[in-house]
Amino acid sequence: MPLHFQRRMKRAASILAGLLLACAAVGCQGAAPAQSSPAPTSPQGQFAELANLYFMGLEDKQQVGVTQAYIDYKGACAYAIEYPATGNEMIDARIKEIVAQIRADFDQTYAAFVADGDASVSYQTGFEAELYVGYQTYLGVDKTLSVVFEESQTVRNGNSPYEGVHTHVFDLSSGKELNESDVWKEGYRAAVSAYAAKHFGNATFAEDLIEPSYREHIADAPQNFTQYALTNDGVRFYFDKYSILPGSYGIVQMDVPYAALADVLNVDITQSAVVPEPNTGMHALPAATETAAPTVAPTAAPSAKPASTPKPAATATPAATNPPASARKIDPNKPMVALTFDDGPSVKYGNQILDTLEKHGQVATFFELGNLMAAHPQVDQRAAGLGCEIGSHTYSHKNLNKLTAEQVKEEIAKTDEVFKRVLGHPSVLIRPPYGNINKTVQACLGEHAAVNWSVDTLDWKSKNVEQIIETVKKEGNLDGKVILMHSIYASSAQAVEELVPYLLEQGYQLVTVSELITYKHHESIQMGKVYGYRYFR
Ligand code: ZN
Repeated sequence: MPLHFQRRMKRAASILAGLLLACAAVGCQGAAPAQSSPAPTSPQGQFAELANLYFMGLEDKQQVGVTQAYIDYKGACAYAIEYPATGNEMIDARIKEIVAQIRADFDQTYAAFVADGDASVSYQTGFEAELYVGYQTYLGVDKTLSVVFEESQTVRNGNSPYEGVHTHVFDLSSGKELNESDVWKEGYRAAVSAYAAKHFGNATFAEDLIEPSYREHIADAPQNFTQYALTNDGVRFYFDKYSILPGSYGIVQMDVPYAALADVLNVDITQSAVVPEPNTGMHALPAATETAAPTVAPTAAPSAKPASTPKPAATATPAATNPPASARKIDPNKPMVALTFDDGPSVKYGNQILDTLEKHGQVATFFELGNLMAAHPQVDQRAAGLGCEIGSHTYSHKNLNKLTAEQVKEEIAKTDEVFKRVLGHPSVLIRPPYGNINKTVQACLGEHAAVNWSVDTLDWKSKNVEQIIETVKKEGNLDGKVILMHSIYASSAQAVEELVPYLLEQGYQLVTVSELITYKHHESIQMGKVYGYRYFR
């Protein structure tokens, strides 16, 4: 059977929405109750919007297949899934199996959260857990088809999710899936490892590499180099987010030309790939027609302005008119909000954020990774000097819920060693990666408190200045809330340039997380406590 080469053009515009409707109409198993056009404010509508964002990023990497898409809901879980139909029965059957497996694994992860008593509702969509699965397809040498599934899981509070890839290579003549020994000759990892050392060792990456994790992940070891696709002109390897480079790099790819691996490949690299024209389709779900009406404004602030209020120019306030942050006086009776930034330090964007805070004499809280702080101590030294609070985001951004107590303690202790070296004291506040914290992790907190957030800007997902600002504005009353952003993206740093003057104009005091707990809740920080979503509402 011929493959379906993809050329979706505008026709694909509402594929997801169309399927959602079709699904509801025929009563797909497990689907949400029929709802012809979910309002964007409904959980389903909000979820569909987020799904749209997720899928947009994958479109230009789909060489083969007609996109099959569905949105589904089961209990408190929501699923947005896209996979290709290639027209080859065997391959398509296997693809469906793989998708079902990803879904089953996700259900299990969620069940574990529930068992831990750790599931809470996402204020973004009203769901407790969300799964997004998208795909890339590549035609490679020797009649191969590579299918790469990209997965994003969000469990609890719409926090920064787990992201991963699942790669599969098929033989187009037989429809069979190729295993490692079909694709590679023995000992191929040594060749790839040597290539990776050269590739990442160059100037572009050298400063950012995470040691020693980087070395572990490019070593000639059986667990490495298992995720790859055969593309038109080489092998594309995938590395987990946070494994060799900071989170801002996302899932890291390394493209190796076929010629460089000629000696270790089992496939015939002289049989070159025949690649169809790239598709130009773009997804677009029905545009949001409503703008959320602002909710109650902070009492002491001017009434919340409509979302369309012109943004104050970032340069409107000359620095000279603002007192330094050290001269701040916090008025417990006035509304206050805490900006928090995860995943840094980032020399470029962290400093850009600090420039904005300094200019306005304001502060924020940074939750930093120990491994990055060790490499770039100056950013947090400057932040601390400006009166900002620095918390720990652990050493290497692992999902603490999956570690043993010993490993959790090590992630915390190693970071504190860096804190002592760089800032002269250990950390007090810890923001666990992905916001994940179960009872085991909580028991490991020792002389620390865990802090999550109550407003997620989803800056890591949209990487869009307007959208980040809109998300904050739509929240309405921000008094007492903790806003989550990341200090590693250009868009986030740029959004801060508008957000800080906006928040001040609305009558808010910008405070650190500790100050918020002290002045809003009149409590001193309790060690071992988890300050979560509900606390900061
Ligand atoms: Zn993080």
